Amino acid sequence: MIKIDDSSRECVLSCEVFPPKKEDSFPKIYETVDRIAALKPAFISVTYGAGGSNSGKQLEIVDYIQNKTDTEALAHITSVGYDRERLDEGLRRFAEKGVHNVLALRGDRPKDMSDEQYASREFEHADDMIRYMRSSGRSEESLMIAGACYPEKHPEAPDKPTDIFFLKKKQDAGCNMLISQLFFENSVFYRFLEYTEKNDITIPIHAGIMPITDSKQLGRTITLSGTSVPKKLADICANYGDNPEDMKKAGIEYAVNQAVDLAANGVQGIHVYAMNKPELCEAVFNAVR
Ligand code: FAD
Repeated sequence: MIKIDDSSRECVLSCEVFPPKKEDSFPKIYETVDRIAALKPAFISVTYGAGGSNSGKQLEIVDYIQNKTDTEALAHITSVGYDRERLDEGLRRFAEKGVHNVLALRGDRPKDMSDEQYASREFEHADDMIRYMRSSGRSEESLMIAGACYPEKHPEAPDKPTDIFFLKKKQDAGCNMLISQLFFENSVFYRFLEYTEKNDITIPIHAGIMPITDSKQLGRTITLSGTSVPKKLADICANYGDNPEDMKKAGIEYAVNQAVDLAANGVQGIHVYAMNKPELCEAVFNAVR
Protein backbone atom coordinates (compact mmCIF):
# COMPACT_ATOMS: atom_id res chain seq x y z
CA MET A 1 0.00 0.00 0.00
CA ILE A 2 1.21 3.55 -0.71
CA LYS A 3 2.61 5.02 2.51
CA ILE A 4 1.14 8.36 3.49
CA ASP A 5 3.85 10.00 5.52
CA ASP A 6 3.31 13.65 6.36
CA SER A 7 6.50 13.88 8.38
CA SER A 8 8.81 13.05 5.47
CA ARG A 9 10.43 16.12 3.97
CA GLU A 10 11.12 14.38 0.69
CA CYS A 11 9.08 15.23 -2.35
CA VAL A 12 7.21 12.06 -3.39
CA LEU A 13 7.45 11.42 -7.13
CA SER A 14 4.82 9.50 -9.08
CA CYS A 15 3.41 9.16 -12.56
CA GLU A 16 0.21 8.44 -14.51
CA VAL A 17 -0.17 6.05 -17.44
CA PHE A 18 -3.27 5.17 -19.45
CA PRO A 19 -4.31 1.94 -21.19
CA PRO A 20 -3.64 2.45 -24.91
CA LYS A 21 -6.75 2.61 -27.07
CA LYS A 22 -5.27 0.65 -29.96
CA GLU A 23 -4.86 -3.07 -29.38
CA ASP A 24 -1.53 -3.24 -31.24
CA SER A 25 0.12 -0.57 -29.08
CA PHE A 26 -0.83 -2.49 -25.95
CA PRO A 27 2.42 -4.52 -25.53
CA LYS A 28 4.35 -1.24 -25.55
CA ILE A 29 2.71 -0.12 -22.33
CA TYR A 30 4.72 -2.72 -20.42
CA GLU A 31 7.98 -1.32 -21.79
CA THR A 32 6.75 2.13 -20.75
CA VAL A 33 5.90 0.89 -17.26
CA ASP A 34 9.29 -0.88 -16.93
CA ARG A 35 11.14 2.31 -17.82
CA ILE A 36 9.10 4.39 -15.38
CA ALA A 37 9.39 1.75 -12.64
CA ALA A 38 13.19 1.81 -13.06
CA LEU A 39 13.03 5.43 -11.82
CA LYS A 40 11.60 4.13 -8.53
CA PRO A 41 8.48 6.29 -8.29
CA ALA A 42 6.36 6.00 -5.16
CA PHE A 43 3.50 4.79 -7.35
CA ILE A 44 2.23 4.61 -10.91
CA SER A 45 -1.45 5.39 -11.42
CA VAL A 46 -3.53 3.90 -14.22
CA THR A 47 -6.50 5.80 -15.64
CA TYR A 48 -9.98 4.40 -16.18
CA GLY A 49 -12.22 5.36 -19.09
CA ALA A 50 -15.56 6.29 -17.54
CA GLY A 51 -17.24 4.46 -20.41
CA GLY A 52 -15.63 1.31 -19.09
CA SER A 53 -14.11 0.36 -22.45
CA ASN A 54 -10.62 -0.27 -21.09
CA SER A 55 -11.52 -1.67 -17.68
CA GLY A 56 -10.02 -5.12 -18.36
CA LYS A 57 -6.84 -3.57 -19.62
CA GLN A 58 -6.61 -1.32 -16.58
CA LEU A 59 -6.69 -4.42 -14.36
CA GLU A 60 -3.93 -6.07 -16.43
CA ILE A 61 -1.74 -3.00 -16.17
CA VAL A 62 -2.17 -2.47 -12.42
CA ASP A 63 -1.49 -6.19 -11.94
CA TYR A 64 1.73 -5.83 -13.93
CA ILE A 65 2.86 -2.75 -11.98
CA GLN A 66 2.06 -4.28 -8.60
CA ASN A 67 3.49 -7.75 -9.24
CA LYS A 68 6.16 -7.44 -11.92
CA THR A 69 7.86 -4.24 -10.77
CA ASP A 70 8.87 -2.82 -7.37
CA THR A 71 6.26 -0.10 -7.65
CA GLU A 72 2.85 0.40 -6.04
CA ALA A 73 -0.07 0.62 -8.46
CA LEU A 74 -2.88 3.13 -7.99
CA ALA A 75 -6.07 2.28 -9.90
CA HIS A 76 -8.41 5.11 -10.95
CA ILE A 77 -12.11 4.38 -10.44
CA THR A 78 -14.99 6.60 -11.54
CA SER A 79 -18.51 6.84 -10.17
CA VAL A 80 -19.64 7.22 -13.79
CA GLY A 81 -19.54 3.57 -14.78
CA TYR A 82 -19.29 2.08 -11.28
CA ASP A 83 -22.39 1.24 -9.29
CA ARG A 84 -22.15 -0.35 -5.84
CA GLU A 85 -22.03 -3.89 -7.18
CA ARG A 86 -19.41 -3.10 -9.77
CA LEU A 87 -17.34 -1.16 -7.26
CA ASP A 88 -17.34 -4.08 -4.79
CA GLU A 89 -16.39 -6.44 -7.61
CA GLY A 90 -13.68 -4.06 -8.89
CA LEU A 91 -12.14 -3.63 -5.44
CA ARG A 92 -12.22 -7.41 -4.94
CA ARG A 93 -10.35 -7.92 -8.21
CA PHE A 94 -7.79 -5.25 -7.37
CA ALA A 95 -7.24 -6.81 -3.92
CA GLU A 96 -6.78 -10.25 -5.50
CA LYS A 97 -3.86 -8.76 -7.42
CA GLY A 98 -2.48 -7.08 -4.30
CA VAL A 99 -3.60 -3.60 -5.38
CA HIS A 100 -4.82 -1.64 -2.36
CA ASN A 101 -4.70 1.92 -3.71
CA VAL A 102 -7.48 3.68 -5.62
CA LEU A 103 -8.04 7.20 -6.94
CA ALA A 104 -11.77 7.80 -6.49
CA LEU A 105 -13.22 10.12 -9.14
CA ARG A 106 -16.60 11.13 -10.39
CA GLY A 107 -15.43 10.94 -13.99
CA ASP A 108 -16.69 12.86 -16.97
CA ARG A 109 -19.65 11.81 -19.02
CA PRO A 110 -18.63 9.68 -22.00
CA LYS A 111 -19.88 11.04 -25.35
CA ASP A 112 -22.12 8.01 -25.93
CA MET A 113 -23.81 8.12 -22.49
CA SER A 114 -27.36 9.50 -22.37
CA ASP A 115 -28.41 12.28 -19.97
CA GLU A 116 -30.58 9.76 -18.19
CA GLN A 117 -27.83 7.22 -17.71
CA TYR A 118 -25.44 9.90 -16.49
CA ALA A 119 -27.97 11.39 -14.08
CA SER A 120 -28.90 8.00 -12.65
CA ARG A 121 -25.39 7.03 -11.50
CA GLU A 122 -25.44 5.55 -8.01
CA PHE A 123 -22.60 7.66 -6.60
CA GLU A 124 -23.19 11.24 -7.62
CA HIS A 125 -19.79 12.56 -6.55
CA ALA A 126 -16.38 11.19 -5.64
CA ASP A 127 -17.03 11.78 -1.93
CA ASP A 128 -20.15 9.55 -2.08
CA MET A 129 -17.97 6.76 -3.41
CA ILE A 130 -15.29 7.33 -0.77
CA ARG A 131 -17.91 7.35 2.01
CA TYR A 132 -19.36 4.09 0.73
CA MET A 133 -15.95 2.41 0.58
CA ARG A 134 -15.12 3.42 4.17
CA SER A 135 -18.56 2.57 5.53
CA SER A 136 -18.44 -0.89 3.98
CA GLY A 137 -15.45 -1.97 6.06
CA ARG A 138 -12.51 -0.76 3.96
CA SER A 139 -10.30 0.78 6.62
CA GLU A 140 -7.30 3.03 6.04
CA GLU A 141 -5.11 -0.01 6.84
CA SER A 142 -6.63 -2.05 4.01
CA LEU A 143 -7.30 0.56 1.31
CA MET A 144 -5.56 3.84 0.48
CA ILE A 145 -8.01 6.21 -1.18
CA ALA A 146 -6.82 9.24 -3.13
CA GLY A 147 -9.02 11.98 -4.61
CA ALA A 148 -8.66 14.73 -7.22
CA CYS A 149 -8.37 18.46 -6.56
CA TYR A 150 -8.28 21.53 -8.79
CA PRO A 151 -5.91 24.43 -8.06
CA GLU A 152 -7.89 26.65 -10.47
CA LYS A 153 -11.23 25.15 -9.26
CA HIS A 154 -13.18 22.44 -11.04
CA PRO A 155 -14.71 23.86 -14.25
CA GLU A 156 -18.25 23.08 -13.02
CA ALA A 157 -17.81 24.69 -9.60
CA PRO A 158 -19.44 28.14 -9.36
CA ASP A 159 -16.52 29.52 -7.32
CA LYS A 160 -13.45 28.48 -5.33
CA PRO A 161 -15.11 28.50 -1.86
CA THR A 162 -17.77 26.06 -3.10
CA ASP A 163 -15.16 23.80 -4.67
CA ILE A 164 -13.09 23.79 -1.45
CA PHE A 165 -16.20 23.12 0.63
CA PHE A 166 -16.76 19.93 -1.37
CA LEU A 167 -13.06 19.06 -1.37
CA LYS A 168 -13.14 19.05 2.43
CA LYS A 169 -15.98 16.53 2.18
CA LYS A 170 -13.60 14.13 0.41
CA GLN A 171 -11.21 14.35 3.34
CA ASP A 172 -14.05 13.95 5.86
CA ALA A 173 -15.31 10.90 3.96
CA GLY A 174 -11.95 9.14 4.39
CA CYS A 175 -9.74 10.27 1.52
CA ASN A 176 -6.03 9.86 2.37
CA MET A 177 -4.37 12.11 -0.19
CA LEU A 178 -5.12 14.41 -3.12
CA ILE A 179 -3.62 14.62 -6.59
CA SER A 180 -4.09 17.90 -8.38
CA GLN A 181 -5.27 18.68 -11.85
CA LEU A 182 -2.37 19.85 -14.00
CA PHE A 183 -1.42 23.51 -13.86
CA PHE A 184 1.26 25.55 -15.61
CA GLU A 185 1.77 28.38 -13.12
CA ASN A 186 3.25 27.39 -9.77
CA SER A 187 1.96 30.47 -7.96
CA VAL A 188 -1.57 29.15 -8.62
CA PHE A 189 -0.69 25.95 -6.78
CA TYR A 190 0.98 27.74 -3.86
CA ARG A 191 -2.13 29.92 -3.37
CA PHE A 192 -4.27 26.79 -3.55
CA LEU A 193 -2.18 25.11 -0.82
CA GLU A 194 -2.61 28.16 1.44
CA TYR A 195 -6.34 28.13 0.80
CA THR A 196 -6.70 24.41 1.55
CA GLU A 197 -4.75 24.85 4.78
CA LYS A 198 -7.04 27.69 5.86
CA ASN A 199 -9.98 25.39 5.21
CA ASP A 200 -8.57 22.57 7.38
CA ILE A 201 -7.62 20.28 4.53
CA THR A 202 -4.65 18.52 6.06
CA ILE A 203 -4.09 15.43 3.90
CA PRO A 204 -1.08 15.47 1.52
CA ILE A 205 -1.63 17.22 -1.81
CA HIS A 206 0.50 16.16 -4.77
CA ALA A 207 1.03 18.58 -7.65
CA GLY A 208 0.05 17.43 -11.16
CA ILE A 209 2.53 18.37 -13.89
CA MET A 210 2.09 17.72 -17.60
CA PRO A 211 5.02 18.38 -19.94
CA ILE A 212 3.62 19.84 -23.16
CA THR A 213 5.53 18.30 -26.04
CA ASP A 214 3.48 19.45 -29.00
CA SER A 215 1.38 22.55 -29.53
CA LYS A 216 -1.81 20.62 -30.42
CA GLN A 217 -1.57 18.77 -27.11
CA LEU A 218 -1.80 22.12 -25.31
CA GLY A 219 -5.10 22.93 -27.04
CA ARG A 220 -6.60 19.52 -26.15
CA THR A 221 -5.37 19.80 -22.58
CA ILE A 222 -6.91 23.22 -22.02
CA THR A 223 -10.21 22.10 -23.50
CA LEU A 224 -10.34 19.07 -21.20
CA SER A 225 -9.04 20.62 -18.00
CA GLY A 226 -9.87 24.32 -18.26
CA THR A 227 -6.31 25.09 -17.08
CA SER A 228 -5.03 28.59 -17.84
CA VAL A 229 -1.90 29.03 -19.95
CA PRO A 230 0.76 31.57 -18.94
CA LYS A 231 2.23 33.76 -21.69
CA LYS A 232 5.62 32.04 -21.42
CA LEU A 233 4.15 28.67 -22.35
CA ALA A 234 1.92 30.16 -25.07
CA ASP A 235 5.06 31.80 -26.52
CA ILE A 236 6.92 28.47 -26.51
CA CYS A 237 4.09 26.93 -28.55
CA ALA A 238 4.00 29.92 -30.91
CA ASN A 239 7.77 29.89 -31.42
CA TYR A 240 8.42 26.16 -31.67
CA GLY A 241 5.02 24.76 -32.69
CA ASP A 242 6.18 23.98 -36.23
CA ASN A 243 9.37 22.30 -35.13
CA PRO A 244 8.48 19.10 -33.22
CA GLU A 245 11.96 18.46 -31.85
CA ASP A 246 12.49 21.96 -30.49
CA MET A 247 8.93 22.06 -29.19
CA LYS A 248 9.44 18.84 -27.24
CA LYS A 249 12.73 20.10 -25.79
CA ALA A 250 11.24 23.45 -24.75
CA GLY A 251 8.08 21.82 -23.33
CA ILE A 252 10.10 19.41 -21.21
CA GLU A 253 12.33 22.23 -20.01
CA TYR A 254 9.26 24.23 -18.96
CA ALA A 255 7.89 21.28 -16.95
CA VAL A 256 11.30 20.51 -15.42
CA ASN A 257 11.63 24.13 -14.23
CA GLN A 258 8.14 23.94 -12.76
CA ALA A 259 8.94 20.67 -10.95
CA VAL A 260 12.28 21.86 -9.58
CA ASP A 261 10.64 25.02 -8.21
CA LEU A 262 7.82 22.98 -6.64
CA ALA A 263 10.28 20.62 -4.94
CA ALA A 264 12.41 23.56 -3.74
CA ASN A 265 9.27 25.07 -2.21
CA GLY A 266 8.59 21.90 -0.24
CA VAL A 267 5.55 20.45 -2.01
CA GLN A 268 4.73 16.98 -0.70
CA GLY A 269 4.56 15.27 -4.06
CA ILE A 270 4.77 15.70 -7.83
CA HIS A 271 2.64 13.53 -10.09
CA VAL A 272 3.69 13.52 -13.75
CA TYR A 273 1.02 13.18 -16.42
CA ALA A 274 3.49 11.53 -18.76
CA MET A 275 1.13 10.56 -21.61
CA ASN A 276 2.83 7.12 -21.75
CA LYS A 277 6.14 8.77 -22.63
CA PRO A 278 8.70 7.54 -20.09
CA GLU A 279 11.31 10.08 -21.20
CA LEU A 280 9.11 12.80 -19.70
CA CYS A 281 9.23 11.13 -16.28
CA GLU A 282 12.94 10.59 -16.62
CA ALA A 283 13.53 14.29 -17.30
CA VAL A 284 11.36 15.50 -14.41
CA PHE A 285 12.48 12.90 -11.82
CA ASN A 286 16.19 13.30 -12.61
CA ALA A 287 15.99 17.09 -12.40
CA VAL A 288 14.12 17.04 -9.08
CA ARG A 289 16.47 14.49 -7.56
P1 FAD B 1 -16.15 15.53 -7.83
O1 FAD B 1 -15.28 15.54 -6.65
O2 FAD B 1 -17.44 14.81 -7.73
O3 FAD B 1 -16.37 17.07 -8.26
C1 FAD B 1 -17.03 17.44 -9.45
C2 FAD B 1 -17.76 18.76 -9.25
O4 FAD B 1 -18.82 18.60 -8.31
C3 FAD B 1 -16.92 19.90 -8.70
O5 FAD B 1 -17.37 21.09 -9.27
C4 FAD B 1 -17.18 19.88 -7.20
O6 FAD B 1 -17.04 21.15 -6.61
C5 FAD B 1 -18.61 19.39 -7.15
N1 FAD B 1 -18.88 18.50 -6.00
C6 FAD B 1 -18.03 17.62 -5.43
N2 FAD B 1 -18.65 16.94 -4.43
C7 FAD B 1 -19.92 17.41 -4.39
C8 FAD B 1 -21.05 17.08 -3.59
N3 FAD B 1 -20.99 16.16 -2.63
N4 FAD B 1 -22.22 17.74 -3.84
C9 FAD B 1 -22.30 18.69 -4.80
N5 FAD B 1 -21.25 19.03 -5.59
C10 FAD B 1 -20.08 18.40 -5.39
N6 FAD B 1 -11.49 11.08 -15.46
C11 FAD B 1 -11.73 9.83 -15.94
O7 FAD B 1 -12.77 9.61 -16.55
N7 FAD B 1 -10.82 8.81 -15.77
C12 FAD B 1 -9.66 9.00 -15.08
O8 FAD B 1 -8.87 8.05 -14.93
C13 FAD B 1 -9.38 10.31 -14.55
N8 FAD B 1 -8.26 10.55 -13.84
C14 FAD B 1 -8.07 11.79 -13.26
C15 FAD B 1 -6.95 11.99 -12.41
C16 FAD B 1 -6.76 13.22 -11.78
C17 FAD B 1 -5.57 13.40 -10.85
C18 FAD B 1 -7.67 14.30 -12.01
C19 FAD B 1 -7.45 15.64 -11.37
C20 FAD B 1 -8.76 14.10 -12.85
C21 FAD B 1 -8.99 12.85 -13.46
N9 FAD B 1 -10.11 12.60 -14.26
C22 FAD B 1 -10.34 11.34 -14.77
C23 FAD B 1 -11.06 13.68 -14.57
C24 FAD B 1 -12.20 13.77 -13.53
O9 FAD B 1 -12.99 12.61 -13.61
C25 FAD B 1 -13.01 15.01 -13.86
O10 FAD B 1 -12.26 16.16 -13.55
C26 FAD B 1 -14.40 15.09 -13.26
O11 FAD B 1 -15.10 16.15 -13.92
C27 FAD B 1 -14.46 15.40 -11.78
O12 FAD B 1 -14.03 14.36 -11.01
P2 FAD B 1 -13.91 14.55 -9.41
O13 FAD B 1 -13.62 13.24 -8.82
O14 FAD B 1 -13.02 15.67 -9.09
O15 FAD B 1 -15.43 14.95 -9.10
